[in-house]
Amino acid sequence: MATQSRSTPVTPELIAYIGRYFSAEDEFLEALRREALAAGFPEIWIAPEQGAFLQVLLRAMQARFVLEIGTLAGYSAIMMARALPEDGHLITLERDPERAAFARRAIERAGLQRKITVHCADARQWLRDFHPPMPLDFVFIDADKPSYGFYLDLCLPLLRIGGIMCADNALAWGDIASESSDPDVQALQDFNRRMATHPQLQCCLVPLGDGMLLGLRRW
Ligand code: SAM
Repeated sequence: MATQSRSTPVTPELIAYIGRYFSAEDEFLEALRREALAAGFPEIWIAPEQGAFLQVLLRAMQARFVLEIGTLAGYSAIMMARALPEDGHLITLERDPERAAFARRAIERAGLQRKITVHCADARQWLRDFHPPMPLDFVFIDADKPSYGFYLDLCLPLLRIGGIMCADNALAWGDIASESSDPDVQALQDFNRRMATHPQLQCCLVPLGDGMLLGLRRW
């Protein structure tokens, strides 16, 4: 008999079940995924159930000001912006001009152009000159795995106390617990360790999608 003190292994059947009932994807976003695939974009956006989780989290914390690192087609940006209030805003960073232009068009069609700003820039450069008008409520890191630690250093001082730093791919495509020599996996291992032991953060790992590492800023 399964014990109650252990997490239940998430099988493909359970993932399908979760996605069936707890998804933030509507027809617009489903079509957006198809268009992004047709445009030759890699299928590396978040899973629909991760979107549902992000939306609940953003609404629960009454987030108004969000930073996303890694836009791709605008899929996660649109999901998150939908959970912000009318006067909320999301800034998303994408270094590939074709992807940034695609995302801007999608955001316009979603009617979210006033809520989302896409900056076409390398986040590593852009963040050095970023002086937000108010503290950030939420940061979503989803680009360029070797730079995760750098994004943590730059963004944590910009996050309000009680705000959340969230990073995707915390399970490193299933390899996080392995002795992989892949630089991306090793970068994620280093990052997870830093987050887990960071004195200013209270962290947890949510095994949805490829794993979401959440760090709440305590002071
Ligand atoms: N968050 C998106 C979603 O779920 O819909 C997916 C983002 S995808 C995993 C990562 C994106 O980050 C890619 O489109 C890539 O071009 C972009 N990227 C990679 N390195 C970057 C950097 N240093 N600065 C800005 N964007 C970067």
